Amino acid sequence: MYREKKGKEKMKTIYVDNAATTRTGAAARRAMEACMEEYWANPSSLHSPGQQAREMLERARADIATVLGASPREIYFTSGGSEADNQAILSAAEAGQRRGKRHILSTAFEHHAVLHTLQKLEKQGFEVELLDVHENGNVTPEEVARAIRPDTCLVSAMYANNEIGSILPVAEIGAVCREAGVPFHTDAVQAAGYLPISVKEQKIDMLSLSAHKFHGPRGIGVLYARAGIPLTSLIEGGAQERGKRAGTENLPAIAGMAAALREACAHREENHVRVSALRDRLIAGLSRIPHSALNGDPVNRLPGNVSFCFEGVEGESLLLLLDEAGICASSGSACTSGSLDPSHVLLAIGRPHEIAHGSLRLSLSEENTDEEIDRILETIPAVVARLRDMSPLWQDKRKGKKEFIL
Ligand SMILES: *Cc1c(COP(=O)(O)O)cnc(C)c1O
Repeated sequence: MYREKKGKEKMKTIYVDNAATTRTGAAARRAMEACMEEYWANPSSLHSPGQQAREMLERARADIATVLGASPREIYFTSGGSEADNQAILSAAEAGQRRGKRHILSTAFEHHAVLHTLQKLEKQGFEVELLDVHENGNVTPEEVARAIRPDTCLVSAMYANNEIGSILPVAEIGAVCREAGVPFHTDAVQAAGYLPISVKEQKIDMLSLSAHKFHGPRGIGVLYARAGIPLTSLIEGGAQERGKRAGTENLPAIAGMAAALREACAHREENHVRVSALRDRLIAGLSRIPHSALNGDPVNRLPGNVSFCFEGVEGESLLLLLDEAGICASSGSACTSGSLDPSHVLLAIGRPHEIAHGSLRLSLSEENTDEEIDRILETIPAVVARLRDMSPLWQDKRKGKKEFIL
């Protein structure tokens, strides 16, 4: 990506917002193009081109099943991670309701696709309990075990958090749920392609994926549902996806997703080593900024996630100045349309409001380089210092009129 800078000089943009979306990779683009050129018929049509498209569809399903350690008939294509999260949770709630179970257990730092679905169920009379998240971004299996009740119809806990990168012990949580006979759903959108997934070994009953987080296309995802787990259809119509998700299949996107996931998993271990080395350089460098703090666990985190809070800095201003310097990052705060709500994730790990407003997330991929890390480490300390110089609150703290928090 290039952009015109003031003057004529061209500046290479550094993209470190991969938790928001990733660049569609070459493997996905090739698979999508092949589908659009040759396999554009409707997979439900009985003629030969239709049947060839059906074959491509089922090959993609089988490939994804293999990567997850699942069976192809446990794979349902959805429009993305949000739809998969919605369908998993609403299905478990409906099944629970039929047996008089209306207690749902989740965590305080889930994605909004989970939290807002749970809020909707709460309005319908379900009892939703959100487990507290520790300062390092963890929830333990013991805490899940203690909170499960005879009327619990679902435990939903994410594999890895999208803002602070912390990784939950899903296998252990899965074991606790299986033992208690409670269905376990995990939002694995940030984990897929980066962390090992085996739905059998990790005793996962339902799992959500989204292609655009691992260099696949947008608007396509997967809901894995273990055989025997009842699913409720959110979209009525034709009999696609065994009657659980109507609508003509988006075959190019599905094939692109399968290719991207295969590619990510084939290079998963080498990418993990290289990307986490870049991450650790960033963390070490940014930790030298006074009155700053890493969010989440220093070790138990996604290979590409760097999340910091800088006291006396406003996250959105930081982002704008970084953008001017050609660095595309994200803040942890969900500041939209001028309402300055700090991130629920940062509040969940105990950051005070004032600190949560000064957050910055850099999310790396295997496309980032050492030179980019150098440039980020040259830029951020200067930008933070500049913003602090302009802040009246910071001046008060420096003069001792107000306490430092970090
Ligand atoms: C991006 C994301 C989602 C939503 O996925 P979409 O495909 O964009 O709907 C859900 N959960 C997590 C953790 C995510 O990072």
